[in-house]
Amino acid sequence: AELDTLDIVVLAAILLGTVAYFTKGKFWGITKDPYASSFANANGAKAGKTRNIVEKLDESGKNCIIFYGSQTGTAEDYASRLAKEGKSRFGLETMVADLEDYDYDNLDEIPSDKIVMFVLATYGEGEPTDNAVDFYEFIYNDDVSFSSGNEPPLGNLNYVAFGLGNNTYEHYNSMVRNVDKALQKLGASRIGQAGEGDDGAGTMEEDFLAWKDPMWKALQEKMGLEEREAVYEPVFGIVERDGFTKDSPEVYLGEPNKMHLDGSPKGPFNAHNPYIAPIAKSYELFSVKDRNCLHMEVDISGSNLTYQTGDHIAVWPTNPGAEVDRFMNVLDLTHKRDDVISVKALEPTAKVPFPTPTTYDAIVRYHMEICAPVSRQFLATLAAFAPDEEAKAEMTKLGGDKDYFHSKVNIYHFNIARVLETVGKGKKWSNVPFSALIEGITKLQPRYYSISSSSLEQPKMISITAVVEQQYLPGREDPFRGVATNYLLALKEKQNGEPNPAPFGQTYEIMGPRNKYTGIHVPVHVRHSNFKLPSDPTKPIIMIGPGTGVAPFRGFIRERKRQAEHGEEVGKSILFFGCRKESEDFMYADEWKEAKAVLGDKLEIVTAFSRDGPKKVYVQHRLKEKAKEVNELLEKKAYFYVCGDAANMAREVNTVLGQILAEQRGIPETKGEEIVKNMRAANQYQEDVW
Ligand code: FAD
Repeated sequence: AELDTLDIVVLAAILLGTVAYFTKGKFWGITKDPYASSFANANGAKAGKTRNIVEKLDESGKNCIIFYGSQTGTAEDYASRLAKEGKSRFGLETMVADLEDYDYDNLDEIPSDKIVMFVLATYGEGEPTDNAVDFYEFIYNDDVSFSSGNEPPLGNLNYVAFGLGNNTYEHYNSMVRNVDKALQKLGASRIGQAGEGDDGAGTMEEDFLAWKDPMWKALQEKMGLEEREAVYEPVFGIVERDGFTKDSPEVYLGEPNKMHLDGSPKGPFNAHNPYIAPIAKSYELFSVKDRNCLHMEVDISGSNLTYQTGDHIAVWPTNPGAEVDRFMNVLDLTHKRDDVISVKALEPTAKVPFPTPTTYDAIVRYHMEICAPVSRQFLATLAAFAPDEEAKAEMTKLGGDKDYFHSKVNIYHFNIARVLETVGKGKKWSNVPFSALIEGITKLQPRYYSISSSSLEQPKMISITAVVEQQYLPGREDPFRGVATNYLLALKEKQNGEPNPAPFGQTYEIMGPRNKYTGIHVPVHVRHSNFKLPSDPTKPIIMIGPGTGVAPFRGFIRERKRQAEHGEEVGKSILFFGCRKESEDFMYADEWKEAKAVLGDKLEIVTAFSRDGPKKVYVQHRLKEKAKEVNELLEKKAYFYVCGDAANMAREVNTVLGQILAEQRGIPETKGEEIVKNMRAANQYQEDVW
C-alpha cells in the first residue's frame, strides 16, 4: 500500500522519537513540537486514517488484531494486555483496535494466517458498548454481507473471544455470546473457548487469567507458534523535553485536549472532550457523622449540552494528592514530577492515552487510575524491576498465586503504590520503566451518575446525587476511599466555605490545571440512556430506588409535579425508597412532602428503614406488602423501574415481582417470571443499576 503524507509524518516522528528516546532528548533543539498533534492523530482524529482492516494489517505488518468493545476501560485494558503477551511470548505482531475505528464488510478478506481477537464488554441490558454499536449491528444481523462473496463468508477467519459481563444482569455476557454465535454461523473458526468474565461475582480478573492460558495454548497449536522467553519491551518512548518547563504554554498540565490547553474549549462535549461546568450549589443530604451523600447542581447553560430526565452525567475526577504523592515517591519520580516529557508510541498502532508534552505529575494526577484494583498479571510484570531479590520473589508469588494475592492485596483494596510500598519495604522502585506504568495502569475513567433532576423543570441544570465511597476494611489502617466521590466532596467543601478542603486528609487540585477550574468547576459530559418516563404522562409508574438508586426518581417525580402544576393530568406514581434510618439517611424527605402537596393521591412514597426496627426491612419486602396495588397498576400498564444496587436488590426485586404476579393472578411462578421477562423485552420494566 502506498504511504500517504500522514503516515510519513508519523513514521518520521517515530524515528525522531526513537532517536530522542535513546539520546534522552539531549539533541532536542527543535522549537516546533512534532509531538503536539500526535495525540489528536492517534486518538480519534480520522483524517487520512484507513477504516479498512485488511489494508491496516498489510501496511503495518501486523498479524494479530485485538478489537475491544469497552465502556469503562477494562475491556480496552485486557485487549492491550493480550497484545503485549502475544508479542512478548509468541512474537506475534499485535495491534489493539477500537471497534469503532474500522468497517467490517471485508472481514472475509482477512487471510487465515492472521488472528482476530474480540474483547467485548456487555453494557446494561445486554447492550453493546457505545464503541461497539455499529460493529454489533453489522455482524449480528441476518442480512450481513461481505465484499468477496466467499462461501462460507468467514471461512478464513480465525478468531478468539472474551466477554466482560455481570451475572446480576438478565442478559449475561450477551455481547460475546451473540458475536460468537454470529461468527460461527458465518463459518469462522474460534480458537479456544469464548471466555466470560463476571463482574457480578467480582471475579473478572481471575476469569480473564484463567481463560487466557488455555487460549494461548490452543492458539499456539493451531498457528504453530513458538513460545519464547518473555522479555519486557516498552510500548512507549519517554522523551525528556529540556526546552520546556511546566509553565510553557505548550505543556499539558491535565488539560484533556488541545482546545482546553488553548483555553478555548468548544463543543461537542463528549467522552473525549468534557465541559468544565460550574457547580451552582452543593449540599449534604445525610444527617449522620461518618457517612456523606452529596447533592450537586451542575450548570450546563454555558455549553450546548442537553439532557433528558433519566440520562447519566459523567464526572471526570482527579486523583487525591496523597495518593499521587505516594505513587511518585515509591516509584522514585518525586524529584522529576514537574519535568516535561513527551510520550511516543514506539510502534504505530499503539495509542498514547493522554496528550503531550506533559509532566509526570499531570499524567499521574489526571490520566492514570492509580487508586484502582491492581492486576495480578501486572505485578508479575513488575517483578523484573524490583529493588531487590526478596521483593522480586514476592512480586512473582503475588503474580502467580491467586489466593496469596487475594489475602495480601485484594482484601485491603490496596492500589499499586501501596503494594509496591509493602513489598519493597520502603525501598524505591527506581527501575520501573515509565512505559510499563502507562501500559499497566488503566487510564482514569469518568464516573457516571444517574441525573436526579428533571429536564422539563431545569433543562440547563443537572443534579447529581452521590454517596461518598468509603469502606472500613479490617487490617487496613485508613479506610478505602473512592476517587470521584471524595473529589466531589472536596468541591462541595470548597463551595461551602472551606478554603482548603481536605476531606479525610485528602487534598485535591480542585482548581484544575493552571487554575482553570476556579470558582468551583467540574469536568463533565452527558450520556443518554434508555431509562425514560412513559411518553404518556397519565400512565402509572412504579419506582424502586433505595439509597442513591432514588436519583433518577427524584427527576421523575419532579417532572410529574411540574406537569401537574401546569394542569396536565398525571398517572399514579409510587416510589419504594429504602435506607438505614429515617433520621440519618432519608434523603429528600422534604421534597417528597412538597411533591405530595401538589400531586396528592397521585404520589405515594413507601419507605423501608432497615435499621429502625427490630427486623431489617428492605424495599422488596414493602413491594410484597403492596402486592395487590402493584398488580392492579401493572394491569393498567404501569411502567416498572428499578435503580441502584445491581448485585442484590435489583435481582431480588425481579424475583419478588414474579412472585407477586403469580400470587395475585393465580398462575404458576414460572408464568409470573415469564411475564416479568416480557415486560423487560417490551421496555415496561426498566433498570438503571450499577
Ligand atoms: P472508585 O474509586 O471508583 O471505587 C469504586 C469501587 O471500586 C470501590 O467501592 C471498590 O469496590 C472498587 N475498588 C476501587 N479501587 C479498588 C482497589 N484498589 N482495590 C479493590 N477494589 C477497589 N453512584 C451514585 O452515588 N449515585 C448515582 O446516581 C450513580 N449512578 C450511576 C449510574 C450508572 C450508569 C453507573 C454505571 C454508576 C452509577 N453510580 C452512581 C456509581 C458511580 O459511577 C461510582 O461508581 C461511584 O460513585 C464510586 O466512584 P468513586 O470514584 O468514588 O469510587
